[in-house]
Amino acid sequence: MVAVQSLLPRLLHLPIFLPKPTIPLFFLNPSSAKPPFNPSSSRPFAALLRSALVAPPPSLEDAGDDLPLAAAAPQIPADRLFVPPETDVPSAGGDLSARVLKGSNIVLSKYARDAQVVQAEFVKSSVTTEDCPSDGLPEFALVGRSNVGKSALLNSLVRRKRLALISKKPGKTQCINHFRINDSWYLVDLPGYGYAAAPQELRTDWNKFTKNYFLNRSTLVGVFLLIDASIPAKKIDLEYASWLGQNQVPMTLVFTKCDKRKKKKNGGKRPEENVQDFQELIRGFFDTAPPWIMTSSVTNLGRDEVLLHMAQLRNYWLKH
Ligand code: GDP
Repeated sequence: MVAVQSLLPRLLHLPIFLPKPTIPLFFLNPSSAKPPFNPSSSRPFAALLRSALVAPPPSLEDAGDDLPLAAAAPQIPADRLFVPPETDVPSAGGDLSARVLKGSNIVLSKYARDAQVVQAEFVKSSVTTEDCPSDGLPEFALVGRSNVGKSALLNSLVRRKRLALISKKPGKTQCINHFRINDSWYLVDLPGYGYAAAPQELRTDWNKFTKNYFLNRSTLVGVFLLIDASIPAKKIDLEYASWLGQNQVPMTLVFTKCDKRKKKKNGGKRPEENVQDFQELIRGFFDTAPPWIMTSSVTNLGRDEVLLHMAQLRNYWLKH
């Protein structure tokens, strides 16, 4: 991989730490010139891929509040896109935007396959990184503020109404909860942070707990940091994002509750606007734009797209 170090996201204002060798860094580097990605060649997944790709944006003047988010989203500048490695980048003047997943800045690569969830089961709750499953399967961690919609998203991804309730059972809320998908990879539910109403002793000190997991779990392909798009950015979320960036932990921002319309008490902004604001606030933390995606567990917006993104990260990780 060429000059990986120079392409890593860096927190501009803070000291830069060298990456742990165990953390996969691939998501940062749009590299090599492989054959162009052709969605129609990956049947039977082609239909899902096509429907997940972005539609040409209509004129925003015509767009009412109720247009689907993908169609209402303005075109994302090329330098704000997330381009996975081994993605054919068109030469100057070429257009990547036709391969951007709806409601996101994520370009699809040839690794986006086998995304469907056909089986999901709870495997175990662990209190330390060392206790976690040791079968070497790749995994994605879901993390976010309490009440961000993490359980709802997990249930939506696996199309099970109550699977994530397991993580909410007494004794499990402060654990690393592993769910095995299709017998081949894991979704990992981490404790929610920032729940002000919890007694002090029950609050997660993520500095001690999840930090160790993020830095030492060798099979962690990426962290999916959930951010509530129905409210303005919270300081604790910005801190979390900056910590992940500073420590070069591969991160995808998953904006939740994107079905919720603007509310005066929430600053009167629409989810799209809160998403944009969050991007601006974290822009200084990273050299390259991290991947982000808009979701709703009410409308299932972004569900297939999140799974496709996980699939392309996973398949690349497995190959390297
Ligand atoms: P968790 O604490 O992060 O696991 O959050 P939950 O999944 O339990 O959701 C917290 C609250 O937000 C519940 O009242 C959910 O019904 C609601 N919620 C979760 N996801 C969405 C969403 O996508 N849209 C809307 N409108 N509400 C949501």
